[in-house]
Formats: sequence, structure tokens, C-alpha cells
Amino acid sequence: MKQYLLLTASILFIASCSTSQKVVDQVMEEQPIEVIQLDWDELSKTEPYKLTEQWEPVPEKVTPGYFTAPPSDAVVLFDGSDLSAWQHPEHGYGARMDQVESILNARLKAPKYTAADWTVKDGAMIVKPGTGALETKQNFGDIQLHVEWLAPVDPGKEDQGYSNSGIFFMGLYEIQVLNSYENATYSNGQAGALYKQHMPLVNSSRPPGEWQSYDIVFNAPRFDAAGEVTKPASLTAFHNGVLIQNHTELEGPCVYIGKAHYIPHPEKMPLLLQDHGNLVRFRNIWVREL
Ligand code: MG
Repeated sequence: MKQYLLLTASILFIASCSTSQKVVDQVMEEQPIEVIQLDWDELSKTEPYKLTEQWEPVPEKVTPGYFTAPPSDAVVLFDGSDLSAWQHPEHGYGARMDQVESILNARLKAPKYTAADWTVKDGAMIVKPGTGALETKQNFGDIQLHVEWLAPVDPGKEDQGYSNSGIFFMGLYEIQVLNSYENATYSNGQAGALYKQHMPLVNSSRPPGEWQSYDIVFNAPRFDAAGEVTKPASLTAFHNGVLIQNHTELEGPCVYIGKAHYIPHPEKMPLLLQDHGNLVRFRNIWVREL
């Protein structure tokens, strides 16, 4: 093995430094072309292949959903019928880090909630502009999320004003929901962006008026006893089945104004849907806790 590593390193070095392919060819020529044959009868006596077999633990069996239907172990947050998994947080979410910090404090010390009052119609929950965000009653840390959303056709609207909403993991880390089909805006604020931090890898938006999906793996940040972040939050996302965020690390909560930084918070917090004043619809929302 060592010889092969040295050979590989030599070839890479030569290939990168030499202008001549001949040198590489010469090195290759000097190597035997004989393929190593394994003696399986002999190997079966010591069974070295078993050293790399992992039998425990056994992955839990899950019945997969049909297309986008929730799998058997999902926590269903909206199945088209009612908003019983949701409530309205009076504290909202923050646009600047000092506000985020004060909201986090209020949320932990004296949280105030009222009933969720967005519209439920035709199997979808629709933002009721001006009423504020909705949060899940349940708290989550690391999750797999599936959500379908629709940015309605809204002539005359543009930029961040065209069907804006957002999904805030832990009420803090936003993946943008926006009509980004032929609607120019800042790249790190378009659909699929980790708002003001990371633009999506590609724009796989469907036209407004059509249902779209996000499938997301979110990893919550970790903090040590002193409140210092030891592992930043990270997120992998598929937009309509296309990879748009690949284990992207967040710099802190997603804020509208200023740079982000981490503030220590509980291991599990609610998922939040943003009211940005537009009639964005959501349906078929489920999570799997990881
Ligand atoms: Mg938004």
C-alpha cells in the first residue's frame, strides 16, 4: 500500500510539475501490469473482510411516503386540515442582532402566544398579512423538513416584495421563500438563500402560482457551557428536488440589518413561518427529528 501511495504521490507531483507527459508514461511503464489476485480460500480462514462489516446498530425501519406524503415516523405539522400544531408568537423575530437577542430573552423568560389565525383553504395554510409569524408549538433541534409552498401571482410586485415569506429554523435561521422566477433581487435574498448569508447553488424556482417544495436537513448549532459556539448551524436543502445548499454553515441568526453572530440558545426551539405581508401558501409540512 505504501508503495502505491508513493507512486500516486510521485505521479501527481510529476504531472503537476513536468511539462512532459512522457515522464509520467515512463513511470507507468516501469510498474508491473500484473493485477494482484486474492486467495479467497486462504482469506476465508481469517475472514479479514468481517472487520469492516458494521452490524449494529441496525437502522430503524421506516415506511417511505408515496412521493411527498409523510413517512411513518414524521411529525406532521400541517396536513391541510387545521393549524393545531401552530401558534402566533407575540415576540416575532428580529431584524438586527440586538433585537434578536432581546426577543430570545423575552421568549425564554416570558413567552406570549395567541392562537394561530392564518387562513386555511383548499388544503393550504395562507399567510394572513399583518397578523404576524406562526411558530410550531413543538420545539425542534436537528430535523429533516419537507414543506411545499406557493408564491401567488401578484402583478406589479417585484424584488423582495413579490411573495416573500420564510422558514426560520429555531425561529432564528431563515431559508428564504420568495418568487424568484424572473424576479431580480439580491442573490443572498432570493428563494433558497440562507437569508443575507449564502445564496443558493442554483435557481430552481418554478413560476409564481405553481407549488414548489423544499426538502431540508437542518443541524442545530452547539454551544459549550460558556455559551461559545462549538459547532455552527448547518443546512442542506433541495428546492424542487435540486440541491441548492450543500451542508452550508450559518454565521448566526439571519438578520435584515448588519452582520450575524451566534447567541447561545436552547437545544430545541420552534420552527417559524414568516408573515412578510404577502399571501404565500404552505401545505404538506412535516419534519423528522434527527
Ligand atoms: Mg423572507
